Amino acid sequence: MSVYDLHCHSTASDGSLAPEQLVEHFYQMGIATMALTDHDGVDGLATARNAASQLGMGFIDGIELSVSWQGRTIHIVGLCIDPEYPQLQQGIQWLKKYRCERAAAIAKELQAYGIADSLSGARKFSKGSMLGRMHFAQFLVAAGYCKDIRTVFKKFLVKNKPGHVKGQWATLQQAVSWIKGSGGFAVIAHPCRYRFKTKMLKRLIEDFMALGGDAIEVVSGSMSEVEILQIANIAQEYKLYASTGSDFHSVQYSWIKPGQLPPLPEFCTPIWHLWEQKR
Ligand code: AMP
Ligand code: MN
Ligand code: MN
Ligand code: MN
Repeated sequence: MSVYDLHCHSTASDGSLAPEQLVEHFYQMGIATMALTDHDGVDGLATARNAASQLGMGFIDGIELSVSWQGRTIHIVGLCIDPEYPQLQQGIQWLKKYRCERAAAIAKELQAYGIADSLSGARKFSKGSMLGRMHFAQFLVAAGYCKDIRTVFKKFLVKNKPGHVKGQWATLQQAVSWIKGSGGFAVIAHPCRYRFKTKMLKRLIEDFMALGGDAIEVVSGSMSEVEILQIANIAQEYKLYASTGSDFHSVQYSWIKPGQLPPLPEFCTPIWHLWEQKR
């Protein structure tokens, strides 16, 4: 059976492996087809695609877009996108600019709490790529404020904690239209991470499908078996395609190894049917 992993991050966003190292790592872990889905950017795709092609590995151009919906931040993955599509490019540019403004606001909040120089600290970790909370988290660990990344996301940078800034990201309509307009498929990422009640999750799915959304992650690195079955049932109810991905960021921070995700429940329709039909 072919092994797919359709959600992961490289140094082009907040992952710790360079795109070609990430591809090599996934190859070693037995993945046959992967998608690189960096946050709000496509800069890693060309290098990763090249590396995959040299290894004879399947590669899908992807992205993970940050979206504000109903006052909450959610993530929409795009698969089989055209990274050159002008509206997508413009959207990415706008999101990148917003990320810089948000980073300054995060640093200001941390400063007010007594933590100085976090913006330059975070920049040392982002190394010129997209600037995100992971880079602030790395700075806070390195500066001795927390023992690890997981603790940072409990004590800082989240709601009601120092350094929290409510995001103002793309709308759901924008994200889906950038992805679909570029010829890609839109996927609701890690649906259990939002801690939505079923009613709210169904509202999101209905809004998403009305805009032309295609799929939902039925298997994601952070999901339990109960959650997988719950989302698989909802996917079936709404006739959404099912996606799978580890959301891998780093060998250190990963609790589930790529290649060791549980399989999609048999009654799901895998998202790769969409592009395998297209060919
Ligand atoms: P941002 O898009 O900049 O707001 O950052 C979101 C990223 O922060 C996620 O993609 C993860 O990489 C990281 N993150 C958020 N929450 C956690 C958590 N609880 N544990 C580890 N990483 C997290
Ligand atoms: Mn991330
Ligand atoms: Mn995400
Ligand atoms: Mn992700």
